[in-house]
Amino acid sequence: MIPSLSKKISSFTKLAELIFFPSFCELCSSLLEFPQERVICHSCWKSIRTSHHSYCICCGRFFEALEEPHLCQVCLEKRPPFSHHRSCARYKGKLKDIILLYKYRHFQVLGKDLARLVCRALGKEEEIWWKVDVVVPVPLHPKRKKKRGFNQAQIIAEELARIKGIELQDGLLVKTRNVPPQTSLRIEERVRNVTGVFGVVKGEKIRGKVVLLVDDVYTTGSTIRECSSALRNAGVKEVKALTVAQA
Ligand SMILES: [Zn+2]
Ligand SMILES: [Zn+2]
Repeated sequence: MIPSLSKKISSFTKLAELIFFPSFCELCSSLLEFPQERVICHSCWKSIRTSHHSYCICCGRFFEALEEPHLCQVCLEKRPPFSHHRSCARYKGKLKDIILLYKYRHFQVLGKDLARLVCRALGKEEEIWWKVDVVVPVPLHPKRKKKRGFNQAQIIAEELARIKGIELQDGLLVKTRNVPPQTSLRIEERVRNVTGVFGVVKGEKIRGKVVLLVDDVYTTGSTIRECSSALRNAGVKEVKALTVAQA
């Protein structure tokens, strides 16, 4: 088809869609008028502040004060089983609302947009992408995945792997016990809740490799730690981790 004709048809289709099936931003209720806008409008996405200059260079924990990136006290005392973790923003405001819409109102389409947000914020951060062989999502227990209909970390991981051209392995790291969601527990209960619940199958596929572990939210870090330990015990050379938001 002639490009200008196909452009005219697509803008006509969009116009017809706007007239007959208008859709509105789930957060601010403004009309979604651009073809790429789905569920959330461009200005809501743009209002999310993603740059953080003050964080632990190992666990990625954001510092309250404006300081140069350095090792936090916890990592100074004992290094975690992963080498680096970074989140692209704090888990609050519109980003928190979007993640909740994504997970609990089943707007799966937001997973890809969240991955693009991560890429815009951290796509050029060398230490997180350097030498990564495989992208692995934090798994859900099969029963939880069936109930929700999808694994939120998997969709984000798939899109990140596609954008960065890195291999994705999404069936190797598994959750072997269906424990209560971390969000339903007090901080002090979270470590015990996930201890020993992750395992690796077909470990030969990732042995000796550098893995980038992907999840939606980092709170106490216990899930990322447990997954990293399971991966390291299966022979993974190095684990790095990336999350969309940090509580
Ligand atoms: Zn909006
Ligand atoms: Zn740290």
